[in-house]
Amino acid sequence: MTFRRTFLALAVGALASTSVLAQEFPASNKPISIVVPFAAGGPTDRVARDLAEAMRKPLGGISITVENAAGAGGTIGANKVAKAKNDGHTLLLWHIGMASSPALYRKLPFKPLEDFEYLGLVNEVPMTLLGKPQLPANTYRDFENYIRANAGKLNIAHAGLGSASHICGLMWQSAVKLSQAMTTIPFGGTAPAMTNLIGGQVDVMCDQTTNTTSQIEAGRVKAFAVTTAKPLSGHKLLKDYPTLQEMGLKGFDLTIWHGLYAPKGTPEAVLVKLNDAVKAALKDAEFIKKQEGLGAIVVTDKRMNRAEHKTFVAGEIAKLKPVIEAAGAFAD
Ligand code: ASP
Repeated sequence: MTFRRTFLALAVGALASTSVLAQEFPASNKPISIVVPFAAGGPTDRVARDLAEAMRKPLGGISITVENAAGAGGTIGANKVAKAKNDGHTLLLWHIGMASSPALYRKLPFKPLEDFEYLGLVNEVPMTLLGKPQLPANTYRDFENYIRANAGKLNIAHAGLGSASHICGLMWQSAVKLSQAMTTIPFGGTAPAMTNLIGGQVDVMCDQTTNTTSQIEAGRVKAFAVTTAKPLSGHKLLKDYPTLQEMGLKGFDLTIWHGLYAPKGTPEAVLVKLNDAVKAALKDAEFIKKQEGLGAIVVTDKRMNRAEHKTFVAGEIAKLKPVIEAAGAFAD
């Protein structure tokens, strides 16, 4: 009897605290922090800041801050969120690294499919192949010939081992059979890498259009091609650049995606509220306008749902594993 009463009291207490938590989320005195695992000012940071602004209103005007935790191709920031308090106030905005890291890192300190709650896929972003402004090439053909003629003398920037820019650079170099032609220079994100490209300290970089569009437009860097299978015919600036497939690199198709995550075990009602806020952001006209202006495609399909987001990432892990293993590339 006593046992039964104690059990009932505990059960009622647990139910009550879950519903209190859900009602109180987001706690008005505690901001939500979105961790970006790269340097400020780069493409992942850009998506996170736009998303934070668009999620604010559906979450009752709560303050949503962005915290940059760069390093190890994004895995340091991701690990931080995997181990964070699971109350919905610490989230992760990460890209394709969520799916490439299990194959790239032999000692990954978290499990992408087990240590996170999935809150919705946010966007897809094409990449651009860039050179420093001083590079004596104006077309993709001239660019490739120049790299070939200067093999061993040039460098290529990226946002850390296993980052999207790193993968893109590796894929391109292997597709044109120039795998050892350039020295790779890692940065904490492609924002600092971009500063060095503009300054001419590095020669080449492959990066998301969310970081490159304005620099290409201002003539601060030279663009040579886009990485998508189809031309970006709808984009006012990037429609004028060829795809790598059009330049003869058969099957070259690389698009980066971003998703939002919470630590495993975040209460269900909190996850529902956060996912509702993501969905509202994806329909926000201002968010869509900003993202499209940068060449990103905002998710409109079912991958904005939690279950479908997870299924999509599981599929990407399975797809990327053999590709990365075949390349024999490890980040650690
Ligand atoms: N663009 C970076 C990457 O290559 C990430 C970033 O700086 O946002 O993964």
